[in-house]
Amino acid sequence: MLLFSGAAIFDGSGAPAFPGHVLVESGRIESVHRAPVPGEHTVIDCRGLALAPGFIDIHSHSDLKLLECDHAKTEQGVTAEVVGNCGFSAFPSGGRAAAVREYGNAILNGGDAVWEYGSAKAYLGEASRRAKDCAVETLIGHGTLRTAVAGSKQGALTAAEMDRLLGLLREAFEGGAIGISTGLMYAPGSSAPREELLALCRMAASKGKIHTTHMRSYSDDLHHSIEEQLALAREAGCRLQISHLQAVGRRNWDKQARVLERLLEARAQGVDVEFDSYPYLAGSTVMTQLLPQWTLEGGTAALVRRLHEGPSRERILAEMREAMPQRWSDIVVAGIESRENHPMTGRTIEDLALERTMAPAEFALDLLAAHQGRVSIVSFNQSDENLRALLTHPLCTVISDGFYVNGRPHPRLYGTFPSLLGEMSRERGWLPMADAVRRITSKPAARFGLKQRGLIEAGYFADLVLFDPAAIASRATYESPRQSPAGVRAVYRQGRAVL
Ligand SMILES: [Zn+2]
Repeated sequence: MLLFSGAAIFDGSGAPAFPGHVLVESGRIESVHRAPVPGEHTVIDCRGLALAPGFIDIHSHSDLKLLECDHAKTEQGVTAEVVGNCGFSAFPSGGRAAAVREYGNAILNGGDAVWEYGSAKAYLGEASRRAKDCAVETLIGHGTLRTAVAGSKQGALTAAEMDRLLGLLREAFEGGAIGISTGLMYAPGSSAPREELLALCRMAASKGKIHTTHMRSYSDDLHHSIEEQLALAREAGCRLQISHLQAVGRRNWDKQARVLERLLEARAQGVDVEFDSYPYLAGSTVMTQLLPQWTLEGGTAALVRRLHEGPSRERILAEMREAMPQRWSDIVVAGIESRENHPMTGRTIEDLALERTMAPAEFALDLLAAHQGRVSIVSFNQSDENLRALLTHPLCTVISDGFYVNGRPHPRLYGTFPSLLGEMSRERGWLPMADAVRRITSKPAARFGLKQRGLIEAGYFADLVLFDPAAIASRATYESPRQSPAGVRAVYRQGRAVL
């Protein structure tokens, strides 16, 4: 047997660390001891280090990258990921594989690869064969599902299409998807009428699955978006997880406190709602998210035409002036398709525009048009005070929301979990380390029904992270994100060292 000896054990429950020893056999935790364990064992000396359950990232966009065993998450101590978030999953293809790839690649970064998964079962089978270093669970993305049924069609589906949509959803749930995600800021999912969303949530409820949502708005319409989701959850009777909650843009910062109260009220009234947040002030997404929704109707060619044509371009500029909650100096180019424009990555739109003596909004539209809309951004969205209120809230699970871009990805992809434990807990004292560990282990496991994960307890999988609590820290920065964290000494999946 394998003996982890003399560690400070954070068991994942939120209880303070205690000195102890953990015996592991056949990939599972055999027993946990406070006193030394006699007998012949392969001993891992953990003195001076902390031992925690492997971290669980319930909001990941590594759907395709984890198949390549990319180590960005493993190096942080992550041993389980939930993918298929924000309306984007790698399945089902529904006989429209090319359209599904075009839709999915905006977030999943599949590059030129020809990927296709007909069902949740097919995707999960591939993941369990290829993702050796982490356990994979998936949601079905509503945007992908809709694209599989009706391509980029906007608005209400026909009765036959709805039948097919619900049929594929049932198949996904029966094939192992643990819930459905909606991405209501992304076309075509954003155009779905309420009846469609309600039907999806009802089926989730009937199968005991969760609905996670990237809401319609996190900025000016934050309150409406929350109410929309609470009403859907109440009516359908499904569990609701609000993804990457925050109040985006300075003028909306004062809305957050009310939202957090509202969620507690809704729970008291019987809605099973929780949320998750990543420990960063900046967000990361595709640049087309800055545009009014109508510009995305009909796909890339239509978008590029609208960016060029006088009247539609004027309308876009006017609407962005009105609706954009950030300043152009808050928005940094993160990833871009063309090589010659790579030097733009890491710089703000305002800087780049000034250099060309252009108005920032005009420059932004030209940049998008020149790259068929494929530009990703990092945008500085929220305040320190609000971030602290989120991360320490009773309903909050901490997530990475990490996604891959060609260029400079958001540092959360490489640093979320060490940053929570190092910067937020140890250095700034926002929350005790045991509570920080709980929010990335037992809490997400319980919320998403991941069995035998998230605690150091007899019978649980021996997914473990050994780290130095005095040194754990993220080294990933906005300027230089691809950095391995400090202080993570070893990571085990089912008793096998994967780092
Ligand atoms: Zn999202």
